[in-house]
Amino acid sequence: MQNEYDYIVVGAGVVGLAITRSLAMKNKRVLLLERQDFGAAASGTNLGQLSVADRAAGLEIEMVKETFKAYAEVAAEYGLEYERKGGLCTLETEEDIAIAERLVAEKRAKGYNLELLYGDQVRKVEPWIENLKGGVYSPDEGRINPFKVNHWLLQEALDAGAIYLSHTEVLGFEEIEGGMACLSTEGTYTAGTVILATGSWSKELLKPYGIELPMGYIRGTAMVTQAFPKVMNGPVEDGAFFTGNVPDGDTIYFGGVQEENGTIVIAQANRAGEDYNTAIDNEDLTKMAKLFLSHYPALKDIQIVRAWSGNTTTTEDDEPFWGFSEELPRMFLAIAFKGAFSLAPAVGRRTADWLVDGSYDERYEKWSPLRVGRCEEEA
Ligand SMILES: Cc1cc2nc3c(=O)[nH]c(=O)nc-3n(C[C@H](O)[C@H](O)[C@H](O)COP(=O)(O)OP(=O)(O)OC[C@H]3O[C@@H](n4cnc5c(N)ncnc54)[C@H](O)[C@@H]3O)c2cc1C
Repeated sequence: MQNEYDYIVVGAGVVGLAITRSLAMKNKRVLLLERQDFGAAASGTNLGQLSVADRAAGLEIEMVKETFKAYAEVAAEYGLEYERKGGLCTLETEEDIAIAERLVAEKRAKGYNLELLYGDQVRKVEPWIENLKGGVYSPDEGRINPFKVNHWLLQEALDAGAIYLSHTEVLGFEEIEGGMACLSTEGTYTAGTVILATGSWSKELLKPYGIELPMGYIRGTAMVTQAFPKVMNGPVEDGAFFTGNVPDGDTIYFGGVQEENGTIVIAQANRAGEDYNTAIDNEDLTKMAKLFLSHYPALKDIQIVRAWSGNTTTTEDDEPFWGFSEELPRMFLAIAFKGAFSLAPAVGRRTADWLVDGSYDERYEKWSPLRVGRCEEEA
């Protein structure tokens, strides 16, 4: 019996949407299944920051550049609010400065465009910011509207013939002759290959098939202010993302982006994820707001209008899982891409090139789900 689809993509976050679009554009029969609705999880709860400074040299930076090119091509047509005015990582202590001095020198030697700013020099890029020891400025960084990115990807996927079913939760999988069956709340669908892009939910979905991925998830909380005249040029991000130096093990970070409409999205309070809880913790929000105001005292009277949280993935080595699984050879994983808005369109294109045309780059190995077993064997 012929499979109904060439590919079933499970999960309509930015990664699943990008893969669906690229496969459909190659004239493949593609079904996208989503438990809630597109962009309802991490892909609809984030800041849309486009980061470069924290990306690994080589493949990852190439994919970031490819992603930015894809955004530039459709930004006007889809109103993506794609801006690359530079991003600042804040440095709060002398220790941060010392770490940043070493890292910036290393990265510049590898070709990164980075500038280390001391004291008030940060105000030449972010004139309203105060009380910092310094900052790492990356002129290539920027922001985008994540909702509009999700919308663009879905629209082009549908235009190219993909079928999208929302409110359809995949409960499990079965190997069938020549493919895989997805058992869902709305029935069973078959395809030659299933692509899992289920973000934080992936570990539990895979466990019954003996696939044990060392991954977890955190709950990240953010808030948005009323509209305000322009006070932020680009994304401003806690230096901990760059230096890895987290004060007192606390996970309340200072960061924000000002959107085109003047609202400021402030983030991010990170706590260990538990039971996919997305509750709002007022204590964390207060700490985050105080941290923000300590650097933007001029905004002391600004109103917070909403707060929310979302679950986002973590892995032991900070690398994603991208490639076929061993236990289910017709199951392809595309999960745990960090800061996926700087990568997803490139992940989509390269996944389709790999699956449809067999175009494979040896550097993909480092993201292979098979590395898990290999590391254990070597140990
Ligand atoms: C507060 C916060 C701020 C962030 N800020 C940024 C930022 O500024 N820039 C950036 O690039 N990244 C940021 N991120 C991270 C970014 O949001 C993620 O990297 C990205 O959204 C991951 O996309 P994804 O498609 O892998 O996962 P998700 O968006 O989580 O999508 C997975 C989808 O799978 C669906 N699903 C799960 N199980 C099933 C099932 N059984 N059946 C069907 N569907 C299923 C889910 O409902 C979900 O829609 C932030 C995250 C948070 C929480």
